[in-house]
Amino acid sequence: MNLILLGAPGAGKGTQATKIAERYGIVHISTGDIFRANIKMGTEIGLLAKSYTEQGLLVPDEVTCAIVKDRLTWEDCQKGYLLDGFPRNLYQAEQLDTFAKIDGVVNINIDHKLLMDRLCGRRVCKECGESYHVSTLGGKTTCDRCGGELYQRKDDNPETVGARLAVYNEQTAPLIDYYSKKGLILNFTGSEAPAEVLFGEIKAVLDKFAK
Ligand code: AMP
Repeated sequence: MNLILLGAPGAGKGTQATKIAERYGIVHISTGDIFRANIKMGTEIGLLAKSYTEQGLLVPDEVTCAIVKDRLTWEDCQKGYLLDGFPRNLYQAEQLDTFAKIDGVVNINIDHKLLMDRLCGRRVCKECGESYHVSTLGGKTTCDRCGGELYQRKDDNPETVGARLAVYNEQTAPLIDYYSKKGLILNFTGSEAPAEVLFGEIKAVLDKFAK
């Protein structure tokens, strides 16, 4: 099963992606994670990606598409994969069509009023990637799941979040229509309810879909 996860920044894609990948035994591929890892390691891709990610802008398509095209040839993709954060615009979606066969697109719709607070208050585990919100941490600085240190992503600040949401509205949201026309969209609504609630709904649909 080859899936795409669509949704605005802060819609809960990362959390749902981990759960979906675990349940269906497919690989979670996050282009944002790939860029962050490259930035941390100081690779050539990282040096290029840094200025874009820090401004909330998209890394150039040629670079991003080449990374994903290569990643999908790895052995672990044989059983299926979940693309999180890719494609982000129509060009990337069209490119993806040339080297992948997508079975479904999980689209998380969410009230955008919730997103600024969610993203600016987000804290992420350095080790396992689990997300938290400061309001529920009570000053705790480590991950409940693995004990890893929590940090705030550099692009989770009001200015950059504003830019990321604008990029989403202008460039990524049209993909809902693109995949609807192909009959691939599976729509869900994100909310302030625990992530397990949304995952229950996604699971109910994907269980039938995966058969
Ligand atoms: P994310 O973790 O998905 O929010 O991505 C963080 C940042 O990485 C984005 O704001 C972009 O700068 C970059 N990025 C991630 N995925 C893509 C993509 N498909 N195309 C271009 N840039 C991307």
